[in-house]
Amino acid sequence: MTYDENKLGLWTSFHFADEEEKGAARHQGVARIEHQQLDTTIEKNANLQGKASTTLVILQDGIRVIPFSLFPSLRVQSVTAEGGQPLAFIQEDKKDDADFRVILPKALSKGDELTIITVYGGKEAVVNTGGGNYFPIAREDWYPNSANFSLGEYASYDMTFRIPKNMKIAATGDLVSEQNEGGESVSIWKSGRQPVAGFNFGKFKMQEIKLDKPEYLVQSYANEEPPDVIKSLLHVANEDLPTQGPHMMEGVALGNMSTVPLIKKALAEGQLSVQLYTDYFGPSAYKRLAITQQTSCNYGQSWPELVWIPMCYFYDSTIRHQLGMDWGDRGYWKSVTSHEVAHQWWGHTVGFNSYRDQWMSEGFAEMSASLYLQLIEKNPQKFIGFWNDQRELLLERDKEGWRAIDAGPVTMGYRMSNSRTGEGVTRRLIYPKGAYILHMIRMMMWDRRTGDENFKTTMHDFVQTYTNRAASTEDFKAMVEKHMTQEMDLEGNRKMDWFFNEYVYGTSLPSYKFNYSFDRDPAGDVLFNLKVTQSNVDDKFRMLVPIYLELADGRMVNLGRAHVTGNTSIEQKVPLKGLKDAPKRALLSYYDDVLAAPN
Ligand SMILES: [Zn+2]
Repeated sequence: MTYDENKLGLWTSFHFADEEEKGAARHQGVARIEHQQLDTTIEKNANLQGKASTTLVILQDGIRVIPFSLFPSLRVQSVTAEGGQPLAFIQEDKKDDADFRVILPKALSKGDELTIITVYGGKEAVVNTGGGNYFPIAREDWYPNSANFSLGEYASYDMTFRIPKNMKIAATGDLVSEQNEGGESVSIWKSGRQPVAGFNFGKFKMQEIKLDKPEYLVQSYANEEPPDVIKSLLHVANEDLPTQGPHMMEGVALGNMSTVPLIKKALAEGQLSVQLYTDYFGPSAYKRLAITQQTSCNYGQSWPELVWIPMCYFYDSTIRHQLGMDWGDRGYWKSVTSHEVAHQWWGHTVGFNSYRDQWMSEGFAEMSASLYLQLIEKNPQKFIGFWNDQRELLLERDKEGWRAIDAGPVTMGYRMSNSRTGEGVTRRLIYPKGAYILHMIRMMMWDRRTGDENFKTTMHDFVQTYTNRAASTEDFKAMVEKHMTQEMDLEGNRKMDWFFNEYVYGTSLPSYKFNYSFDRDPAGDVLFNLKVTQSNVDDKFRMLVPIYLELADGRMVNLGRAHVTGNTSIEQKVPLKGLKDAPKRALLSYYDDVLAAPN
């Protein structure tokens, strides 16, 4: 590693071979949280006061200090053991090292269980953004959470929230009860094992729909009024607009910025996403989903049963343009809801084992959003455009001169963002390449007769096997190997090493050249002469390259896949029996089936 003010990075990090063999390479801390009982009060000014009873199991012998993750401005007031005796703790000033650590009176052994009661509170974990909008800034550390929080540990939760009584809350888990007590709205939430807990609240309006197949309650929440920052932008925008001419209509739209009428859009997209992903991946671990609006415009997030959608998504593109918020995040506005809903499967139902496996959470969620574009919006151009955007993200150079695809493999995760590669490389690597990896597997498994059946079977098996558990990259590889087709067995050993070494653990990017012509053979059939050239790879690089024909009637058909190894060409003459008219054209990887350099 390099440790320097201007140069910082952990360049390599490996487990010992025997740790890998013993399974000790699995992510493991000093203690595992089994249960959280969280009692939380949030005042009108957003001040948060909490009491957490955290039950833990010790994972190693000789543990004296339990590390927690707690938002720095939430100051710990007291820590006690179950019987009420005070425990020592460390929490330096929020501007210093605010890490929260509890010191036990004596060392504990592996398997010991204990409950720690923490009382804490403060501002800034939640921000009052005006107009009845509240922005929960602390997402995974508004309560004393696991110090190595990574969505790979599962605990059960009992939660009580007290908020001002004219407000509505949506939280993770099942709503047990909700009532007004004095000046507060008190709600109780309960959940089985899940990787994290969270909430969103405000002066919300809510609409819901009950689904039968799968059995699911989908809810959509939005605020009645925009937050102060949008109101002030509106003010400026309205002043800048001419009162006549083509922009007048936009001025009218800007004057009426309530997002309530748009609740239905999020509700419909949530419902369709839940149905699509249940079909493709199997049931999630949940029966409920609340899609909520958040003040922050530039990102969304997903917790079990709770999704935060950036407020600007609720505005149409004209209004976003007027507000100067269409800074062209490729595909983001088109797929924010379907991406976040997909995390109900990727990251929550199936957790990931460590930062090395996080590419599966973000990548699979992005790939899921592509299924939404293709199968719900039924827009092939948007689908292909989506993959072009993803490839561009991987191949454009950042200001340090790096292409994300060359910086390193997806399994290096967020560690890849360092001073050498530029801090932004991970966003341009994990999401798009993770998505491409799953997309390529889907396209390899696609069958002319059964379509996506084999891919669906693989994903159902993966989700079912790892429900409420963390999966590693190798776990996923083993699942693909269990369901791989004969054609995918390029090394004849029922292993997918060739593909994982190239795209998951490696940084390969092949180039292709395609030459073809159509003749007639003596029998009068159309004869397809083709030559596929693969280059810019090592000699062992193998790939299945699909060939598509656009027929005279406009249909696009998959003719089959060429198996190419190394820097070579393959040439073939294929009689297209029964085809009267020659195809309009032939194409390689029409659906971006193979991540390759653009031609
Ligand atoms: Zn995501």
